[in-house]
Amino acid sequence: MIILVMNAGSSSLKYQLYNMEEESVLATGRVERIGMDASILVHEPAGKQEVNEVSEILDHVTAVRKLIEILTHKEYGVLASIKEINAVGHRVVHGGESFKQSTLVTDDVKKEIRRLFDLAPLHNPPAMMGIAAVEYNLPEVPQVVVFDTAFHQSMPQESFLYPIPMVLYRRHKIRRYGFHGTSHDYVSKQAAITLGKPLESLKLVTCHIGNGASCAAIMNGKSFDTSMGLTPLEGLMMGTRSGDLDPAIVPFTMNKEELTLNEVNSMLNKHSGLQAISGIGSDMREIVEAMDAGDKQAKLAFDMYTYRLRKYIGAYAAGMNGLDAIVFTAGVGENSVAVRKAVCENLTFFGIELDEARNEVRSKEARFISTDDSRVKALVVPTNEELLIARDTYQLVQEER
Ligand code: ADP
Repeated sequence: MIILVMNAGSSSLKYQLYNMEEESVLATGRVERIGMDASILVHEPAGKQEVNEVSEILDHVTAVRKLIEILTHKEYGVLASIKEINAVGHRVVHGGESFKQSTLVTDDVKKEIRRLFDLAPLHNPPAMMGIAAVEYNLPEVPQVVVFDTAFHQSMPQESFLYPIPMVLYRRHKIRRYGFHGTSHDYVSKQAAITLGKPLESLKLVTCHIGNGASCAAIMNGKSFDTSMGLTPLEGLMMGTRSGDLDPAIVPFTMNKEELTLNEVNSMLNKHSGLQAISGIGSDMREIVEAMDAGDKQAKLAFDMYTYRLRKYIGAYAAGMNGLDAIVFTAGVGENSVAVRKAVCENLTFFGIELDEARNEVRSKEARFISTDDSRVKALVVPTNEELLIARDTYQLVQEER
């Protein structure tokens, strides 16, 4: 079965084409600058040379048409005919409380995703454009939606409710939803395989730390708590996002600096985190480089980032009353030797013993970075959200047949 995985943003569309018999990637790529001049299509067919095409792509319908053309192109293509695509799986950021798992797209599902636009105004509308564009270009092909929030729907009330008037939850569904669910789900399953234990018997803290970052407490294979909340602003310190802070800072700053709500929102989402403290940027590579060269602000940013991460790991170990392993994933988690070291070296109290040589290894495989004797294990597991979307799509379409 051939499955196309799509991640549609407002001006971009990323894709991966899978052959599910071997779970192999046939092609990957993206369309950028949709709706702007000089849109770019980057197509990387497996075993062939990358293709870059600049043209005018005014909307998602045209982007999907271009994508189909390139997938079936006689020179750069990987399919003989578009009829070979059996299903399309979409990443959708917000599934609210309605979607506890991935699901086939129906009229009711689309209606519900639209109803949730309010909760994810920047992310859900483009995902719907992606769904509509596939419907237009490939009307016969079944589609599946996979939500970033769905995995966290297993959280108990004491994890997902905020201690504010209950009426706000009842009226507006203000609660913790959590994000990166597909990634936390995928890496927890992979971690169990690497640990050689059933997922149902494990207490894990998964740390998805990329540009956005979140931790999850995963108990018996289910999300028990996670650091992102109603929106992806809460929790860990991130590249440009503040993460946790005293909510009173918002009105206080608005008053002192005469800022509007939009300005404060933008400050917390785009001008905070590593970037604000270091004054250098949001990329962990630059921070570590500057810190190693003696830059004090970079060191402070790094220390705050890793300290806040450790605090979450400690909180979740307490929340689950136990911990078998911590798992690092995403851009920073998979690549930053320094971040993993700073986190693990200060968690010896929890029984984590870092193996420095293992921590230095660069690999695309799931692996231990703790010693064999470490009571609590530390692992690096490269995430693969697209593969999980492809697997869910495959399974749902198989069941439907
Ligand atoms: P996103 O959250 O956008 O999906 P990624 O998971 O790809 O992002 O993470 C991107 C971030 O990973 C970059 O901003 C950078 O800070 C970090 N990163 C990537 N490679 C390295 C590296 N070798 N060392 C430290 N950080 C890295």
